[in-house]
Amino acid sequence: MANAGRPVDVQLLARYPYVPLAREYVKAQGYQLGDLLVDAAFERVRRRAVQRVKGSMERDGIADVAAATEAESEVELLSYPVARLLLAELHDPYLTSRYAVAESKLLNERLSSEQDDRVVWTVATALGVPLEAASDTESFARLHFLDFLRHAPGRDPSWKLVNQRLSAGFVSLDRARVVRLTEQALKDRLEDEVAELERPGREVAKAFPKELPELTTILAAHRARFAQDTSGEVRIEAFPPCMKAIWGGIQAHVNIPHMGRFAIVTFLHKLGMDSEAVLKFFSQVPDFDVNKSRYQIEHITGKIGGGTEYSTPGCSTMQTYGICPLEQRDEVCFSITHPLNYYRKRLRTLPPAKPSPPATPPAQEAANAG
Ligand code: SF4
Repeated sequence: MANAGRPVDVQLLARYPYVPLAREYVKAQGYQLGDLLVDAAFERVRRRAVQRVKGSMERDGIADVAAATEAESEVELLSYPVARLLLAELHDPYLTSRYAVAESKLLNERLSSEQDDRVVWTVATALGVPLEAASDTESFARLHFLDFLRHAPGRDPSWKLVNQRLSAGFVSLDRARVVRLTEQALKDRLEDEVAELERPGREVAKAFPKELPELTTILAAHRARFAQDTSGEVRIEAFPPCMKAIWGGIQAHVNIPHMGRFAIVTFLHKLGMDSEAVLKFFSQVPDFDVNKSRYQIEHITGKIGGGTEYSTPGCSTMQTYGICPLEQRDEVCFSITHPLNYYRKRLRTLPPAKPSPPATPPAQEAANAG
């Protein structure tokens, strides 16, 4: 892929626009983001960027395109940074998560179909999977066990460390597993990078006058579906392992780090609890300090302090802060990228909640009335 002295393979870069070499190529060609947004010559780039973002909200994900010519490859390559601008403008953690999953699935498809093993190797290492030459002839590569744990999706027991072929601290991997680890690495990277992008503002809004409202509408429909799924009584049995652990820790008087408290308050708030209800939820804790808790909750939920309503951190942020209990993750954890999505998914599998008993038993009520 990166060969000094050889012409750059734009078709290949278009398939993996997130690798540093692709960025270097765009820079070297002198493309400016401003031009990509307004110049009529880049209309197809903008259309493909919208298609990328829209695709992330569709069941089938981002459609692959076969870029046969250099011009088509450039459209594909340049649409990636423009798609990121759209995401930055929309600034929505849920959409960011979906986009990260969709792009990483597309990466998996593309890498899996590569004929040349060197491409797989180059893309994997460029995305932070530090492969080393295999120590046996059957394996594609080996990876230090710490790096393996960092990227392992663990969807099934075959990804657990105890089930790996380990030698001198390295896990032996076949090619398909390298591709899967690379998919995970890209997903984590995109979630972090896009979440940190600043809102670009007017230029992007002007470039996409119809598309941005359309994307916002699609997003709102997703949100409405989510709200429908999660409305009703909060069910602790549907909590993800991270929230169960934080909640268990609070009840057991364990000193929960600030980020843990922040995460559970935003989580409960997003499940539809207002700050009074969250406060009531917290009041189950024996050493509950009502004034302190009220202040913190109202600040996080945007009731005071300028009205900023904070979002629940996604799984990769939870992991960065060490509040995702990695060993307790289950199969649902490996199919989502956000604790709220975990809740929604788990909720669907639970039997309906039993109606809460009336405050006063009916017989007693009748007696009182009489
Ligand atoms: S993977 Fe996500 S949902 Fe699961 S425990 Fe970790 S942070 Fe929570």
